[in-house]
Amino acid sequence: MTTDISDLLDYDEVVERFDPVLGLEVHVELHTNTKMFCGCPTTFGAEPNTQVCPTCLGLPGSLPVVNGKGVESAIRIGLALNCEIAEWCRFARKNYFYPDQPKNFQTSQYDEPIAYNGHLDVVLEDGEVFRVEIERAHMEEDTGKSLHVGGSTGRIHGADYSLLDYNRAGVPLIEIVTKPIVGAGERAPEIAKAYVGALRDLLRALDVSDVRMDQGSLRCDANVSLMPKGANVFGTRTETKNVNSLRSVERAVRYEMRRHAAVLVGGGEIVQETRHFDESTATTSAGRRKETAEDYRYFPEPDLVPVAPSREWVEELRATLPELPWERRKRVQAEWNLSDLELRDLVSAGALDLIVSTVDAGAEPDAARSWWVSYLAQQANARGVELDALPITPVQLARVIALVAEGTLTNKLARQVVDGVLAGEGEPDEVVATRGLKVVSDDSALLAAVDEALAAQPDVAEKIRSGKVQAAGAVVGAVMKATKGQADAKRVRELVLERCQ
Ligand SMILES: [Zn+2]
Repeated sequence: MTTDISDLLDYDEVVERFDPVLGLEVHVELHTNTKMFCGCPTTFGAEPNTQVCPTCLGLPGSLPVVNGKGVESAIRIGLALNCEIAEWCRFARKNYFYPDQPKNFQTSQYDEPIAYNGHLDVVLEDGEVFRVEIERAHMEEDTGKSLHVGGSTGRIHGADYSLLDYNRAGVPLIEIVTKPIVGAGERAPEIAKAYVGALRDLLRALDVSDVRMDQGSLRCDANVSLMPKGANVFGTRTETKNVNSLRSVERAVRYEMRRHAAVLVGGGEIVQETRHFDESTATTSAGRRKETAEDYRYFPEPDLVPVAPSREWVEELRATLPELPWERRKRVQAEWNLSDLELRDLVSAGALDLIVSTVDAGAEPDAARSWWVSYLAQQANARGVELDALPITPVQLARVIALVAEGTLTNKLARQVVDGVLAGEGEPDEVVATRGLKVVSDDSALLAAVDEALAAQPDVAEKIRSGKVQAAGAVVGAVMKATKGQADAKRVRELVLERCQ
């Protein structure tokens, strides 16, 4: 049942009377070429049930084999999260019966995760740093997907029938679980959002996942409970499942805090359950009663050997970690001479990594910065998407910037080239060619246009000849118009003045 938003306790009153405790579980799909325990490909969006085999369909007699790349990614994630890496760990069977899991169990890790006891420092919008302690990061496999047909909501209730796609069953997942986050107070929703954002940036830097929340390759379950101010026993929690955008993480936590508070203040009890977040109403609704660990009857997976990464391998992976987001921020702040505020603005606009990549592709930092924070930010805004979802890559933008630097494009023409790339017309050079956008720098072509413009405005030409140089503007304007803005205005002006000497 969905609580009406007007039944919720006012947020100020919530944080005056209660302390929130959060627990965030993030599932990240690794972008390995093959699944975690078989050789099936993992391409997103393939025809249903074309990427399956006896192992990931759980057919009798099939045996799993661990994906080495999946283990490597898990260790790298653990190291980047300052975790200890297990010297020896095992997979476990998490038993449950549900159609999206053909084996009737999920191969996961239980009390022996590969990475544990870490932390991630999260920078909030005002620059304050909040440390989130990491309980564990463990390896598991994704489930298949159910598609409920015939109902209005896409949920099973009211559907005529359901279809199952097992392409995703067995795709490697890493589940990253925080320790209880206490002391967040009124900033809890903001901290939840910032943590998932920081984790996304980290995973992207590690290049282990597409981290596309909209495609489900990064999903967050948000556990929320409240305890009265001054108490030290956690309240009953609810778990809002599969929240699929950063903004929704913040809104789901805030909603649950207000709903819990309203129930508690009214003398009611919180039911331990999973909840669904509805993007359109920004509310949550009850799902299933939460299972306990006993319900899953975990036991060690007998078909897989334990995973015992050697210390040498772990140290080798540690030494080859890429530049991590916080290190990168420190470096570019010094190199580009940015104030704390400027740096934070770039980070919160989601522009920093894009600018760095554009600079890495050969562009000047100032030009790269200006494109991403002004023109492209406007384009993203107009389309209602994040900056990094725009269909232009840093390499493409760097090419446009190079064309401006070498004089092939003016800034105005460059914007048209970028528009062309955004519209899917191809690479910048193709857009220049097909739209005919090159700056006319050939003097003879420009002179012809200048002569024509002077002949069309004899009175203006006369004025210029008599020394009224400022009158040249009208002629320059006419030439720019005639060349559809593709002339270099400065050069046109020089030619006009030369012609009128
Ligand atoms: Zn398979």
